[in-house]
Amino acid sequence: MKAMTMRSQPDGRDRRVREGIERVRTSLGRSRLNWSLQRERIVQAFLQEEHITVRELYGRLNRQGLRAPLNTIYRTMRVLCEKGFAEARRFGEETQYDNLSAKGAHDHLICTGCGHIVEFEDPAIERLRQEVATDHGFHLTACRLELYGLCGACRVKSRQVMVRHVSVAQGRILRRV
Ligand SMILES: [Zn+2]
Ligand SMILES: [Zn+2]
Repeated sequence: MKAMTMRSQPDGRDRRVREGIERVRTSLGRSRLNWSLQRERIVQAFLQEEHITVRELYGRLNRQGLRAPLNTIYRTMRVLCEKGFAEARRFGEETQYDNLSAKGAHDHLICTGCGHIVEFEDPAIERLRQEVATDHGFHLTACRLELYGLCGACRVKSRQVMVRHVSVAQGRILRRV
């Protein structure tokens, strides 16, 4: 199984973001959608992330001094989805926009404690999907595999909470004795 960590390396990421912007610009240019500096900044901020919600994107742009209205961000994300650069996925409460500009098919592990998302590719899973589909006479057009659980950090945290509860309970018992 290949965890998709290579993409997070800073040097490669900058290049990827630059190339991504060029591709988005070319693609939008072809469909005659106007390209503004504001839109470029939204696309740039989005391409720096693997997954992001519109609210997070809005906060990030705001911190960079760009007051992009929420509906402009929504509109830009919708266009990126239509053009295949992003995919809206609902992990838990909010819609996350998955940056597809430099990825192939991949699956997700999602932490129900903190929302941390890990992406992975596994040819064995890919093969299994095809087999299951073929066995049932299906031709696959889309796949989505989401595994939910607690990440390592949240497991440590929940163990610490449990230990604290146990020691508080023991304290109460000791006082009663
Ligand atoms: Zn993803
Ligand atoms: Zn977690």
